[in-house]
Parts: sequence; C-alpha cells; structure tokens
Amino acid sequence: MSNYPHIFKPLDLGFTTLKNRIVMGSMHTGLEEEKNGFERIAAYYAERAKGGVSLIVSGGISPNVQGWTGPFAARMSTKKHARKHKVITDAVHKEGGKICMQILHAGRYGYHPFAVAPSAIKSPISPFKPFKLKQSGIKRTIHDFVNSAKLSKLAGYDGVEIMGSEGYLINQFIVERTNKRTDTYGGSYENRMRLPIELVKQTREAVGKEFIIIYRLSMLDLVEKGSTWQEVVALGKEIENAGATIINTGIGWHEARIPTIATSVPRAAFTWVTKKMKEELSIPLVTSNRINMPETAEKILAEGHADLISMARPFLADPEWVNKAADNKSEEINTCIACNQACLDHVFKRKIASCLVNPRACHETELNYLPVKKKKNIAVIGAGPAGLAASTIAAQRGHQVTLFEADKEIGGQFNMAKQIPGKEEFYETIRYFKKQLSLYKVTVTLNKRIEVQDLKHGNFDEVILATGIKPRTPKIEGIDHPMVLSYIDVLKHKKPVGKRVAVIGAGGIGFDVSEYLAHKGESTSLNIDAWLKEWGIDKTMQARSGIQGVIAEVSPSPREIFMFKRSKGKFGGNLGKTTGWIHRSTLKKKKVQFINNVQYTKIDDEGVHYVQDGSEKVLAVDNVIICAGQLPFSPLLAALKENGMSVHLVGGADVAAELDAKRAIDQASRLAATI
Ligand code: NAP
Ligand code: SF4
Repeated sequence: MSNYPHIFKPLDLGFTTLKNRIVMGSMHTGLEEEKNGFERIAAYYAERAKGGVSLIVSGGISPNVQGWTGPFAARMSTKKHARKHKVITDAVHKEGGKICMQILHAGRYGYHPFAVAPSAIKSPISPFKPFKLKQSGIKRTIHDFVNSAKLSKLAGYDGVEIMGSEGYLINQFIVERTNKRTDTYGGSYENRMRLPIELVKQTREAVGKEFIIIYRLSMLDLVEKGSTWQEVVALGKEIENAGATIINTGIGWHEARIPTIATSVPRAAFTWVTKKMKEELSIPLVTSNRINMPETAEKILAEGHADLISMARPFLADPEWVNKAADNKSEEINTCIACNQACLDHVFKRKIASCLVNPRACHETELNYLPVKKKKNIAVIGAGPAGLAASTIAAQRGHQVTLFEADKEIGGQFNMAKQIPGKEEFYETIRYFKKQLSLYKVTVTLNKRIEVQDLKHGNFDEVILATGIKPRTPKIEGIDHPMVLSYIDVLKHKKPVGKRVAVIGAGGIGFDVSEYLAHKGESTSLNIDAWLKEWGIDKTMQARSGIQGVIAEVSPSPREIFMFKRSKGKFGGNLGKTTGWIHRSTLKKKKVQFINNVQYTKIDDEGVHYVQDGSEKVLAVDNVIICAGQLPFSPLLAALKENGMSVHLVGGADVAAELDAKRAIDQASRLAATI
C-alpha cells in the first residue's frame, strides 16, 4: 500500500485524467535555444515522464518576438516552430506522460530592445526600457497568444499554461505598479484584468473543450503596489469562468526582494495561499514553492491546501521522484536542496541548466552511467561530496568500490553546511548518499586516515583521491593568537565564540559562519510562521501584495559581527546570482557590519588592526574567525604516483579555488561515468 494515497489518486479533468497529483512545473533550461536543444529537451522530459510525473509544463515559450525573455528566445508563432516541438511531445507521450506548453510573454522583463509593456516603465531587473503597447499592439498580442496555443495543439501538446504571474507581461497589466494606462486596459481593476480574461476566453474558443488550459495566477505579488487579495480572487473567478481547466499558484514577482524558492524558505511556505484560494474557486488548483519530498506533498494534499503539487527543481535533482514515492522509497530520492547553483544561476548567466546534486540533469544525451564491461577494484579516499558521488556512481555501474574516510562520518564539508540556519536541506544529500552507498554495496571504512601501504595491499586498479581542502591561513601577524579561530573550529569543533566577532573573508563560508553566529535557537527556515514574520509577509492577506505596510519582525543577533574583506565592491558579489542578495539581506537584518577595502596589520589583545583608506584602525573583538578560502589537500598524490598506481584527483583536492560542491560532484560524476 502506498504511503502517499493522496499523491497517487488520479484527477479526472472531464475530458482527460491525470494519473497522479504531481506536476513538473515550468522551468527554462537554456536548451530551448541550443543547437539540437529540442532533442535534448525531449530526452530530459522523457526521463521525467518515465519517472512517473503525470503532467509536465514546458519552459516558457514566447508567443512573439516582443515577448522574448532574451534575444532569440524560443517562440511558437509558426507551423515551422510547431513541427520542431513534435519530438518533445512524442517523447513524453511515449513514456505515458502528458505535457502542456507554457506561453510566456516577458513584457518589461524582456532582456532585449523590443520589449513591450502596458506602460513604458523600466523594471529594476532589466536594463531595457519597454515600449508602451498601443491598443492595436494589445490586440496583436492576444492574437499571438491564441495562435501560439493553437500551434501547440498542432505540435501535440495536451494543453497550455498561460503565464500570468512572476511579474511578466500579464502581471504587469494587472497592477497599478506597472500599468498607468488610461484606456480600457488601465485605470480600474476591471480594466486592468481585461487582458488575461480575454486571453483565456479566446484561447478556449480557439482550442476547443478538450485541451488543458492552466492559468498561472499571481496569488501573492510581494512587491509594493501589487494586487489585494480581493482583486486576486476576483481575477481567479473570471479566469475560471473564461474557461481555464486548472489554476496554478504564482508567488512573488522576480523583482520582489523576498525569497520564495531559496533553500532558506521553509518547505511548503506558501501553500496556505492556495488553500485560501480553494475556498473561492471550484476548478483544480496547483500549489508550488519549496515542496521537495513526498511527505510534504502528501500532507499538503491531505490537508486540502491544493489538488495538485507542482515541483520543477526536484525533478532536475531526481527524475525518478514519483516512481520512488510510489514504491515507498522516499529515502532513495535525491532531494533538491534548493541551492539554485546549477539551475537558476546557470539560466540567469545564459548557461545550460543542470543540478548540483545530479549533473545529468539537462545532459541526458551526453552523461550516462552505463554498466561496466570490466569490473574494477576502486578505492575512493574521502567521503565529501566528490568522494560520495564518485564512489556511488562507480558502484552503481558495477565496480567494486571501497570508500575510506578519516572522519567518523560521511559528508565532508556538507556536515558543516547543514548546521547553518537555512541550510538544513544539506542533511538530505548526506542521507541520499548514505542510502546509495548501501544500495550499491560500497564498502565504507570510517575513522581511517589511509596510507599508501593500505592501498597497495588492497590491490586496487584505480584510486580516486577526494581528500578535499585545507583552510587557507592568511599571513597576518598574530594569526596564532588565542582569540583566532578557523571556521572549522566554530562549525565542527564547536569552540566557544564571544559577543564581538570579526570574520575575516567574505566568501560563501564567511557568509555561512556569520549567519551561524547571528542566530540563536531555532532556524526560521523550519518554522513557516516565524519565517513569514521575519520577511514581513501578512498571512491574513489584509496587506496589499501580502506585504505593504507590514513591519518585519527579526530576532536580534546574539553577537555583534563585523565582516571583513580586502577587496572593494559589494559583499556577497561572488555568491550565487539568485541567492547572494538573500544572504546579504539576512545579515543586514541581523545588523552585521560590512567592512571592505582593508589591509590586515595584526591581531593582538586589542583586537584586529587594519588599514582602511590610508588610516590605521583597530577593532576590539573577542574572537577573529578566519574564512579566507581554501587550498587543495592531497597528501597521498605524490607517493601513489611514485608507486605506479593509477590515481585520479577530484573536487577540492584537485582545485580548491572557488571550490564548490557543484564542481566537485560534477567532476567526480563525470570521472565515475568513464572509469
Ligand atoms: P571564497 O569564496 O574563495 O572566499 C574567500 C574569502 O577570503 C574572500 O572573501 C577573500 O576576500 C578572502 N581571502 C582570500 N585570501 C585571503 C588572504 N590571504 N587573506 C585574507 N583574506 C583572504 O572561499 P570560501 O568562502 O571558503 O568558499 C569556498 C567555496 O564554497 C566558494 O566557491 C563558495 O562559493 C562555496 N560556498 C558557497 C556558499 C554559498 O553560496 N552560500 C556557502 C559556502 C561555500 P578578499 O580577497 O577580498 O579579502
Ligand atoms: Fe535543486 Fe540546487 Fe539542483 Fe537546482 S541545482 S535543482 S536548486 S539541488
């Protein structure tokens, strides 16, 4: 019997049935614009359909040139375009899935000079000022949406999703923030919601009754001058009457300065919004945002928050998510940790999306873990992310693998990361690897610092060195003063830290340590109500957009924290594009002080001495925490080579500069795929 009866209850839409309640939500991958991209998308979606997803929503496809998200973005305007999509729809149908094409018009978010919007107001996230659409332009836009929907039917799609949220064109028409028109598409709310209603009505007329129309409704704008709850409900009712089959939940505009999907957002933080809407509408509702495990999805459905669950990133992390849930094998799921590092951060940098915990995502046609022809005896040294990926994939392929770890547990630096408030998802990756090690019968030897002799005696055909890094110790006078601690002293050895602290180095780890030291007690990422208060979101929905006029309630830091770096420029500039601002904002709320452009002079009983703008300064502190980057750690390399052993370096042991788990896992997985 299934542990998740609500997930696996089919949903009858009248003319077609969804086999379960799990939808793979829309996400741009960058393949849409690549050479052979459609074949690669077909392989990527087919794996997810085979993995049990009932309905896939494609990445956003523009109805016309003005609606592009960026130059030459994919669009559906001609029969030639439609023919190109056939390979995708055929592949999904072959695996028993259904697929809708998302029609997305970027409006003023378009990163190109042809962008249009209800009014000529530049968005804070694009350098291009849009042209104001004339009435004739609006009519043409509606025609293009409808044309796109008809063509998608021709291409074999089961339906469309009309993207009405996240601050794109339709959303821009709906709210006064971006719509200053005085014609029949501006002014009153009735006028401002005219565009989406006409769009859905005309699309329904054009595609007939037996075609899914999902409308993604912005239920919570999270920007000033967005919609009130009453307005959102009124629009939802009109969209239902206009002929939509399903309404999907949109939370937050892209320009909102409130996180909505980052790892620090609690799981299922926004499903209460969909639940509130369920009291108002009768067609099925989809909920989304930070749902990544079957237990969470089941609870949402069982408690009546929604009829369907949409997840996008969790299917990058694990295409087999649904089948594993169906087999009650939730602990085998490779959980999306919501880091955005390989998916959204890539897309924003115009790189092809992938996944930190699953480098095969969007690379299904080139990276495969095929059974080995000749079984080898492989030693992997180090059980951090790189060593874990290398050993589990090599073993899955059929090799005999022994994993050696000097520490008492597997996980490496992830064991420190998981303790940072807001990074609790890292526990899941360690759990996943632990399960993989046992499934593929990797021999794991903990508490053993391995020597060359051990490896020689083991008769290993190959040795993979994943021994990681050692922290860099900067050459500062007084670096051995008793008040100086390394981040490992703090996070791993739990050495006591005083009330006034200087953090030296402002990379990912400097931010993590500061966040750790700025908290006491429970992480708000584990408590939805506390988290909503921290970000000033009104759960009663009396505030416009859910935030207007609400004062955030942040619990103060138990310490005074001063972050230092030698370089100029903003703090956190090197962190992920989609998450750096969140870390900066969280620390600012905790009143952490940022001090840049410094040269360290010395550390002594008085504190940290440094020079800034030509003046000598001293900051009195109780402790100085060193987070100054890392150096590769591969003590065995030379000796192994001298002994003629076949040895490979992966992860931090190879290159420590800008080391992150994404590169480590990717490099280790690719090695294990070929070894
Ligand atoms: P990092 O990102 O390279 O940062 C090292 C910091 O130390 C820099 O701010 C640098 O700033 C400073 N530094 C370098 N050499 C120094 C020296 N000789 N003396 C004094 N200061 C020095 O390294 P990390 O913080 O250890 O992070 C490692 C990797 O893990 C990074 O790739 C990071 O992206 C990833 N990570 C990311 C996150 C996250 O996204 N939240 C969290 C943890 C780790 P100045 O040169 O300006 O002084
Ligand atoms: Fe999830 Fe991170 Fe993978 Fe993106 S890169 S899918 S956020 S685990």
